[in-house]
Amino acid sequence: MSSDPWQSSLLDSTNDAIIVLNRVNVIVFWNKGAERIYGWTKKEATGKIAPALLKTHFPEKLVTLRSKIQKKTHWRGLLNQTTKKGKKIVVDSQWSTLSVGKEPTVLEVNRDVTKEFESEQRLHETKNQLEAVLENVADGIFVQNHLGEMLYANTVALNMFDIASQESIIGSSSLFYQKGFEFYDEAGEEFPFSRFPGRRVIAGEKQATETFRIVKKSTGKIQWITVRSSGILDKQTNKPFLVVSVLSDITRQRQIEESLRFLARAGEILSSSLHYEQTIQDVAMLAIESIADWCSVEMLDNDTVTLAAIAHKDPKQIIWAKKLRRENPVDLTQKTGIAKVLTTGKPEFIPVITDAMVVAAAKNKRQLALLRKINFSSVIIVPLRISGKVIGVIQFVSTDSKRYFSQNEFEVAVQLANRVSLALENVTLYENLEKEQQRINDIISNIPGIVWEARAKFSTNKRLDFVLTYISKYAEILFGYPSAHVMGKSNVWAKLVYHEDLEHLAKGFYAIYRSGKGGIVQCRFVTKDGQVKWMELQSKVIADKKGRAFGLRGVAMDITKQKELEQRKDDFVSMASHELKTPLTSTKVFAQILEQRFKKIKDAQSQKFLSRMNEQIDKLTNLVADLLDVTRIQQGKIQLNKEIFPLHDLVAELVDNLQSVTSHKFVILVSQKDAIFADRDKIRQVLTNLLTNAIKYSPGDKKIIVRSKTIGKHITVGVQDFGIGISKSQQAKIFERFYQAPQRASARNTYPGLGLGLYISSEIIRLHHGKIGVKSVPGKGSIFSFSLPLASVRHLPK
Ligand code: ADP
Repeated sequence: MSSDPWQSSLLDSTNDAIIVLNRVNVIVFWNKGAERIYGWTKKEATGKIAPALLKTHFPEKLVTLRSKIQKKTHWRGLLNQTTKKGKKIVVDSQWSTLSVGKEPTVLEVNRDVTKEFESEQRLHETKNQLEAVLENVADGIFVQNHLGEMLYANTVALNMFDIASQESIIGSSSLFYQKGFEFYDEAGEEFPFSRFPGRRVIAGEKQATETFRIVKKSTGKIQWITVRSSGILDKQTNKPFLVVSVLSDITRQRQIEESLRFLARAGEILSSSLHYEQTIQDVAMLAIESIADWCSVEMLDNDTVTLAAIAHKDPKQIIWAKKLRRENPVDLTQKTGIAKVLTTGKPEFIPVITDAMVVAAAKNKRQLALLRKINFSSVIIVPLRISGKVIGVIQFVSTDSKRYFSQNEFEVAVQLANRVSLALENVTLYENLEKEQQRINDIISNIPGIVWEARAKFSTNKRLDFVLTYISKYAEILFGYPSAHVMGKSNVWAKLVYHEDLEHLAKGFYAIYRSGKGGIVQCRFVTKDGQVKWMELQSKVIADKKGRAFGLRGVAMDITKQKELEQRKDDFVSMASHELKTPLTSTKVFAQILEQRFKKIKDAQSQKFLSRMNEQIDKLTNLVADLLDVTRIQQGKIQLNKEIFPLHDLVAELVDNLQSVTSHKFVILVSQKDAIFADRDKIRQVLTNLLTNAIKYSPGDKKIIVRSKTIGKHITVGVQDFGIGISKSQQAKIFERFYQAPQRASARNTYPGLGLGLYISSEIIRLHHGKIGVKSVPGKGSIFSFSLPLASVRHLPK
């Protein structure tokens, strides 16, 4: 190196490191710039091997580098080096050969570019990070320049349009996604190029958003995409120099919305259809509107499968579908398709039907041709169930349209099937209910009686009214009023019931309603044309779940004929007993005269016969007397001749009389001081009846107890026997006219009688304003008791 001080100071004044290396890379020159950059003084550096001192990283081997320089005489590149203080630096290094002597010498000029390098490094990293972020967002993103040329697109955006790499679209100025896709707006109209948000921003809008449906031409695949574009403005011109567009795939969301809308409509249709056939036809129609090209419903009935409904987007195609169905009935032993779903109960989904599948499914050439004609692309088959049992399937078929069913459609189909199942279950229930109702109505309208139901209602005057809520057809036949004229009307009874019986019916209903149980009322009704009909209304109280009564329900029977017969019977009894009475009285008189005569001539034999005859005449007289009593009671002609008399005396007298004809043991527990105010003869009749019954119905010489007990102003008399007793069911009836407890055939005539005694007794007690009743246990005996008012001072004669 020259030692010219001018030259040397020039080399020192530059900020670059100027280093000269000899053949083996030993430093032979080291300027001030090198000292400043690396920290080593000239003295320290000179004589050292440069790459070792500076810990230089070369982009290629140093030997190669040097031989390259030899040939080309120049090299430039970035080197990583380390300073004396250990700081890592980046230098922009320029190497050239110096022709000093024979030795190959290198002049190395290094500029410290660490700062610039780092900031560029950072910029690069930031760019990478940004791209990584953009790659990782779920939305598609692309950036265009102000001419609409594509600068960047992330993978999501590329995938949306099936584009393999960025490179293929970078710089393309037409909208890359137009190829192979069709664009429709939300109304289903074709989407024009000028409406794309990116275009609109380039044209001057600040921001633009659009939602459209993209259909891939080759597969028919649908995507719903929302695009939001905005411009990045140039500060000077205030015009966009970049347009950023964000694409959100809202297909799934749209599908869910559509599915929900579809299912809601299905729900509406299903809940409004009340008939089985209608329901399934409605479903098929709905399906072709929204999901499928062809929908059929197949129902399973006793191992045969019938086509219950079919719908096709193109009605002409139904012929083919039906033909296929006819020629290829569902064979339940098959392990595919409808048969499989019917037997396993699991839904079946074949998203893509290939020609190979069609070939495999066809049984013969004809069928293959038919199947190909129908051109299946996708099939969904879902089961229909009632109470868990598979009763049929819905089959959705996609044809021609290159439209394949998605998982979403499969899910919708399954949901639809569930809803249809539920609707069918309801419809079946409803139809069964209707049938049952019809059946019951038929039965009811064919019985010769009126079934009725009425709700209790307090009328304005606080009286309990019963408003008819149901009345069977027979009422129309019987009364001549149409049901509508009497149902739901207040005070309908005044119109229907014979006016004299209105009060009786009202009281009867009231008592039954209050009893909470049931009862019978008889009264006369008047028909529209004025006829009087006797009706017997058997009623039961109806109550709500909490047991609160709210009405009556029952059957009303026409008992007019029965009443007429009863009347005729009564008339006959009345007439017969009157007719019998006179000859009987005369017979009795003649028998007495005869008795006198035989006594005089002392004909003992004849006297005995006559006394037997007298007994029989007495019995007959008693029977006739009973019958006459009944007649009198019926006609309300019984007169009471009341007087005050001690009860005990009457009982003692009767027991005394009876003791002569029976060996039963009587016990009298009747107070001696109690006097009653009553018709002595009639009370004798009652007591006689009770005592003779006690004797009659307690065979063997059992005990009979007569008791009395005073409670307040009443005395109760009881006659107790230990005989056969009376069952509960009969106890209610024995006070009725002509009632006798049924006797076994073998025991007929053991207890003769007309069944009138208790009836007459009860009527006598009723006329005395008393009560009569019985307590009895079959096999143990009975206690008949009646109550009468005690005599009081006011009964004494003045
Ligand atoms: P009858 O003339 O048949 O005795 P009643 O009217 O006196 O008629 O009695 C009606 C029915 O009541 C009788 O047929 C009998 O079955 C039953 N009965 C009455 N008293 C008694 C009794 N003390 N024990 C058992 N059954 C009785």
